[in-house]
Amino acid sequence: MVALRLRRQKPVENEILGTYTFPSRTVQVLKTQDDHILWTCDCDKFLRQAGQREPLWCKHIAKAAARRSLERLTRRVAGPGRRALSG
Ligand SMILES: [Zn+2]
Repeated sequence: MVALRLRRQKPVENEILGTYTFPSRTVQVLKTQDDHILWTCDCDKFLRQAGQREPLWCKHIAKAAARRSLERLTRRVAGPGRRALSG
């Protein structure tokens, strides 16, 4: 039997732009409905910042952001065919 969870009452529908997994953590980059980029991480440090007004941040997000900018650079070089580079 599969228990289905009702997810229709989601308050905000953020678009997931990317997911970056690390050995013990998962970082996601989301686009909010008002076109803001939002990073999330599931580590304790990130969750502890949850009450703050400042943008939340942690080292995993920093790593993911670096990986993301690298990806974008690579994509620009490689063109539409993302599999053009091998090795
Ligand atoms: Zn983190």
